[in-house]
Amino acid sequence: MIESRSASNLGALTADPKKLYNIDLENAIVRTLWHEIATQRELKRYGVQAAVDFIETAKDLVPLNQNFTSILSSVIENLNKTTLSHEEMVLGLRNASLPPERRYEGCRGTRPGTRGYPCSLWMLMHSMTVNAYKRYQQDKTYDPIKTLHVIRNYIGTFFSCSWCQRHFMDMARRIEMEATKPEDAVLWLWRVHNTVNVRLAGTITDDPARPKVNFPSPALCKTCHKEGSTNAEPLWDLDEVLKFLLNFYSAENIV
Ligand SMILES: Cc1cc2nc3c(=O)[nH]c(=O)nc-3n(C[C@H](O)[C@H](O)[C@H](O)COP(=O)(O)OP(=O)(O)OC[C@H]3O[C@@H](n4cnc5c(N)ncnc54)[C@H](O)[C@@H]3O)c2cc1C
Repeated sequence: MIESRSASNLGALTADPKKLYNIDLENAIVRTLWHEIATQRELKRYGVQAAVDFIETAKDLVPLNQNFTSILSSVIENLNKTTLSHEEMVLGLRNASLPPERRYEGCRGTRPGTRGYPCSLWMLMHSMTVNAYKRYQQDKTYDPIKTLHVIRNYIGTFFSCSWCQRHFMDMARRIEMEATKPEDAVLWLWRVHNTVNVRLAGTITDDPARPKVNFPSPALCKTCHKEGSTNAEPLWDLDEVLKFLLNFYSAENIV
């Protein structure tokens, strides 16, 4: 289980599970920078590159608000200039006026240790792959699969939940074989996330208010499920799943 050390993760659920929350997407980046990247005592050049690629890709693809995007531009500029000292990294984030982690909305948990940062990180990564695929739909020279590589490098270098990192990297070793078509950028991450959901369902990581299931449930997307589909053995209509994810992680669905 990933401990969310921040009280900003907890509270009554008021969020709509059909929506994406801007504050959660920003929190994912803020927490990544303050707690995963700037806490590294021994930064290496390739690590800084993995961080810059991740933040730059998120900034480029995810429809975040203008003010936050400007802050990220300064953060990236400072990261690119760093001489790899921990103190300088922290100063770079302060000088860029990076805000602290704030109260989660869609990813708020109802008991300690649930939801929060890992939830928001998944949502950020899905937003990245969905918007990479949309970019490809407009410009066929754009390669959406490279976003999966950026995500793999980031998780492999920085994700502080070491067993989550190990499990993810085991699956991500197969990206080159399993993600070959542009839409696989979206569907590969969706499949991997469902593998994690199924493994963790019913464990202590489950928030009783939002139990882990194969996503999307029939309540969220009826047409994603073919006849005879169950949560234990879903029969997916992949065209419908793709359509659902493009809509769920779209700019129009962000509150
Ligand atoms: C890369 C990664 C690997 C992890 N590995 C582990 C691990 O090995 N062990 C462990 O204990 N914890 C692991 N975690 C944490 C775990 O997956 C959950 O993030 C955490 O338990 C919080 O769960 P949650 O109920 O908020 O929902 P989450 O699983 O975090 O999902 C957040 C939201 O994403 C949406 N969603 C759910 N499934 C999908 C899907 N398939 N496709 C698209 N959107 C979806 C839903 O709206 C959901 O509310 C990992 C997290 C990450 C980011």
